[in-house]
Amino acid sequence: MIKLESDVLVIGAGGAGMYAAIAAARDGCRVHLIDRSLIGRGGATVMAQMTVAVALGEQCPDHWQHHLADTLQAGRGLCDPALAQLLCENAPARIREMDAWKVGWARENGHLKQVHAPGHDRARCVYVDFLNTGPAVSRTLRTQLNRIDGIRRIGDVLITDIVVHDGEAVGAVGLHLVSGETVALEAKSVVIATGGLTRLYRRNSGSLNMGGDGYALALRAGAELIDMEFVQFFPIGHLAPRMIGMDPIMWDPFRYKLGGRLLNAEGEEFADRYGQAESGNYVLTRDVATYAIFKEVEAGRGSPAGGAYLSFAHVPEAELRSAFGPVIDRLARNGIDLTKMPVEVAPIAHYHMGGVRVNAAMETRVPNLFAAGEAVGGANGANRLSGNAISEAFVFGEHAGAAAAARAKARGASGWNAKTATAGLDFLNSRSNAAAAPNTAALLVELQALMADNAGPFRTEAKLSEALLRLEQMQRELGALPGGGDAHYNMVRLDWLDLRNMLLVAQTVVLAALERRESRGAHQREDYPGLAPEWESNQVLSWRERKLVLSRAPLRSDAQAAI
Ligand SMILES: Cc1cc2nc3c(=O)[nH]c(=O)nc-3n(C[C@H](O)[C@H](O)[C@H](O)COP(=O)(O)OP(=O)(O)OC[C@H]3O[C@@H](n4cnc5c(N)ncnc54)[C@H](O)[C@@H]3O)c2cc1C
Repeated sequence: MIKLESDVLVIGAGGAGMYAAIAAARDGCRVHLIDRSLIGRGGATVMAQMTVAVALGEQCPDHWQHHLADTLQAGRGLCDPALAQLLCENAPARIREMDAWKVGWARENGHLKQVHAPGHDRARCVYVDFLNTGPAVSRTLRTQLNRIDGIRRIGDVLITDIVVHDGEAVGAVGLHLVSGETVALEAKSVVIATGGLTRLYRRNSGSLNMGGDGYALALRAGAELIDMEFVQFFPIGHLAPRMIGMDPIMWDPFRYKLGGRLLNAEGEEFADRYGQAESGNYVLTRDVATYAIFKEVEAGRGSPAGGAYLSFAHVPEAELRSAFGPVIDRLARNGIDLTKMPVEVAPIAHYHMGGVRVNAAMETRVPNLFAAGEAVGGANGANRLSGNAISEAFVFGEHAGAAAAARAKARGASGWNAKTATAGLDFLNSRSNAAAAPNTAALLVELQALMADNAGPFRTEAKLSEALLRLEQMQRELGALPGGGDAHYNMVRLDWLDLRNMLLVAQTVVLAALERRESRGAHQREDYPGLAPEWESNQVLSWRERKLVLSRAPLRSDAQAAI
């Protein structure tokens, strides 16, 4: 067993985790930044493509209150106002700080360039050119990590449980994937920055590290989850023809810059049937666009692979080249000539609005346990605006890191003793009966199919109930103790531990979706169409006596949320 000790433990090294580590270290704390993958390369941040929403007013007048108004409207009445405000009000400082760190935001006429994205009332999104925002942001934060003393970066460690003593977080336990050794991490405060849950779905834009670990860690530690029913589907994920070495959500930046026509099999633009005419522009919010594409396919007007066409054929080649030069060559290597052919696109699981419930200091109800980034629920309500996720990762990361540092400094000792981590370590050292071990690879595939087919953007009571039943069975099939032997980088063991979390988190999504008998934002119930005013409330999940407990929570007012 490896035992380490720090002031602040940050779990997850995406945009939120790296920013949290930087903030805690510049406040003088000793920080451990842990990731199950490589530092700064394992989650969604490094994959992000383009837009970062921020009211800078560089190219047209803007104010964070306008950004907030758009965020609240997109959230369909469910945003936590204090978290949404924190995000919009502090985004400018973080984006300018990243600029000072030379991230390379695109510029025009001496100003940071800001483009329009759906749901924003003006050009508000900065970016780094040629689909390079995520890599540039991650590289910049990794460079800052190197420059600040006091941050120890440890990759390849999968955190499996938060350690709680006397009701307070005192550290975490995990597995060093390379050696197979258990790890115990003592800390005075802990930040969960583990990103989202899109790996639960068959078609998703994320990485293997996004199975919702942080939600499961928080639940088992005693924290609450909020808004778990709201999984965002990105409407124009690449579907066909086959494309290698490029991201399935790469068409988003194309649409920001060039518009592009979304067409059905009959060559018609169809958005106006669903409430908003696009006419070559890019104005549909993600929930409406997802709905429109699904409905066209259902009506028999889908593309051959089961989505919609996206066409740039009306855009002159010179314009395509000037907007996306090197990317056009990469597309050509995939046999895609946008001047002559459309591509097929369809909704793809992309982001999670729900997550760990925190107050405006990013602290959960478990003292000393904080959360940041996509792991946090509430700021975006029922639907997130394009570009808000990267700003959220920076702002919440910085805020959580600073709050965790203040807490660590205020505490004399962590409260850890020789026995506090015993349960978590014993669990990790235990082995199931190999003969009865389930086929974890098959269970993972089945789970993703079940969630896509029964708990995707369009839901019914029958499908959700069927999913819940099967998820409970799968949990029993998985068993209570980890499978796999002691070999280094044991994939059976890793799959088992992933499934333990994914099955729990999938149940939180399905339970909350089953209970919400209305359609709002990313949650569309075919058996309950339309908004129901009595559902203008959040849902909260907790874990009591090894059971999920779902309850309604009235919307937080600004004052409550700020507590
Ligand atoms: C393809 C793609 C494109 C996107 N484009 C945009 C965009 O243009 N604009 C925008 O605003 N948003 C975009 N998003 C969303 C945005 O990138 C994410 O919401 C944001 O980066 C999340 O940051 P994060 O730090 O919270 O999580 P992540 O960056 O996902 O980092 C989480 C980290 O936690 C680690 N981790 C997870 N579980 C554990 C565990 N148990 N133990 C240890 N480590 C763990 C992971 O390995 C990972 O490194 C995009 C997302 C994707 C997938």
